[in-house]
Amino acid sequence: MPVVSTTCKREPGGAKPARWVPEKRSRWLVRKARLARRAMQGKVPERFRRALELNAALADALAQTGLRHLAARVEVCHTRFRACRCENGHVWARPLRVCHVRVCVFEARERSARAAKSWGPVLAGLDRPKHLVLAMPNSPMGRLADGIRRLWGAFGRLRRMPVWKLVRGALVSLEVTFNEHARTWHPHLHAILDAPYLPWEELMAAWKQASGAQPGESRTCWIGAADSRAIRELVKYATKMASLVRHPDALEEFLRATKRMRMLRAYGSLYGLKRAVEETGVRCPDCGAPAVESEERVRVLWLDQVLWDTKGVWRPQKPP
Ligand SMILES: [Zn+2]
Ligand SMILES: [Zn+2]
Repeated sequence: MPVVSTTCKREPGGAKPARWVPEKRSRWLVRKARLARRAMQGKVPERFRRALELNAALADALAQTGLRHLAARVEVCHTRFRACRCENGHVWARPLRVCHVRVCVFEARERSARAAKSWGPVLAGLDRPKHLVLAMPNSPMGRLADGIRRLWGAFGRLRRMPVWKLVRGALVSLEVTFNEHARTWHPHLHAILDAPYLPWEELMAAWKQASGAQPGESRTCWIGAADSRAIRELVKYATKMASLVRHPDALEEFLRATKRMRMLRAYGSLYGLKRAVEETGVRCPDCGAPAVESEERVRVLWLDQVLWDTKGVWRPQKPP
């Protein structure tokens, strides 16, 4: 597959164009990763094949951008694991060399599973929680970072307005969708609110004011009951990956605009919920104890030697 930089299409004033540098090293890494993947083909269980394919497509798209150094990392992410054991005899598997790329399919799945497990009971205990969606006008290509900054800024102003006094706590996540045909970005916020009552008209008026809407200009402000679907909305992929894989220039802009950004923020009574999703898995998923050093040589497991259990925890597959 030819490596073509699509960044030249970017409008002036947009994100920094990719440097065209000799790519010997990154190409070598990508090739090496492909070898690893091929070696596994035919052995990978059906349940992981889709995720591997999506990550491979993501790696191919990344290889065409200024972020090509991430391609190999994404491609091999979650293909090798280390078996871990705690002092209470629980056994789990920890992925080696996690890529930490925002749109990695495996990491998105893990986040969702962790959130559903730890937030479900907390949210079930809230008095009529709400699901709120807030948006501002779409941003053109090249202006996503600015659009996101203005969105969080407007949300910060909303939180200081009188209507927000009714909100005891909030868990807020940023989601970005890309419109392939219009080539525009639609950054928006999903929030779960610990608030039994919120007058929509007042909230809408406050959001228009906070986001600087001109008279007659519309804004998105949707509110409904928070159920398990709302939790999934909050932690699913930060973006719909399929359209970005087809548009590497957009993928690059998304990753640069959200680099090191906290996509999930928590406030007030829900503040403590954020950590549950961000934890990394070096502690026992069953009892929280740290992994104990094994005396024997620590085993490295391949993807076909692990399972993803019903709680969303990686486990070494038992020998038959
Ligand atoms: Zn990853
Ligand atoms: Zn344990």
